[in-house]
Amino acid sequence: MPVFESTHPLVKHKISLLRDNDISVKAFRELAKEIAMLLTVEATQHFSVKNTSITCWSGDISVPTLADKQPTLVPILRAGLGMLEGSLSVLPCAKISVVGIQRNEDTLQPKSYYENIISDIQSRTAIIIDPMLATGGTALATIDLLKSSGCKHIIALFLVAAPEGIKLIKEAHSDVTLTIGMIDEKLNEQGYILPGLGDAGDKIFGTL
Ligand code: URA
Repeated sequence: MPVFESTHPLVKHKISLLRDNDISVKAFRELAKEIAMLLTVEATQHFSVKNTSITCWSGDISVPTLADKQPTLVPILRAGLGMLEGSLSVLPCAKISVVGIQRNEDTLQPKSYYENIISDIQSRTAIIIDPMLATGGTALATIDLLKSSGCKHIIALFLVAAPEGIKLIKEAHSDVTLTIGMIDEKLNEQGYILPGLGDAGDKIFGTL
């Protein structure tokens, strides 16, 4: 599985700003959106293009345009919504498939409680968006769900990821590409990423 950690200075800088404990909700939201936009550009850099004929001011020319259907963005509720606007700013025609996953408190296994996946998912790339890849359980369940719905090409974007989550996805789904803003050190006993960002959903929604 290709794991791509951004080396872009703007991504690094903006993630560093996100880590400040005194950050406001407004600043966190804006930065999450901006980093999502930058990571979406990086994640789509290998998309195929085809030649299309158009008439421009100087006559008929052949221009490169995206060869495939626009991808579907897959925000994982709720924190993934904080990246949606940023990803949409560079993929304004993308379809949106929403997934909600929560842990079953009896089995401790992640389980979907909401899914609204576009009908032609089998002919589009799915780009999962979630700020944090921690244990990897939620991402794994989302990938399983997308594949069982017929999706054949999946990319997942995370602002920050833990090695534990990357390992889990790598072992289960070697075909899924991960695009990550920064790979952090490890998880703590509660499953939070260190040094991490804290609870990204709370910071985006202001529910601290
Ligand atoms: N989810 C978060 O929001 N933060 C973490 O560190 C881990 C999971």
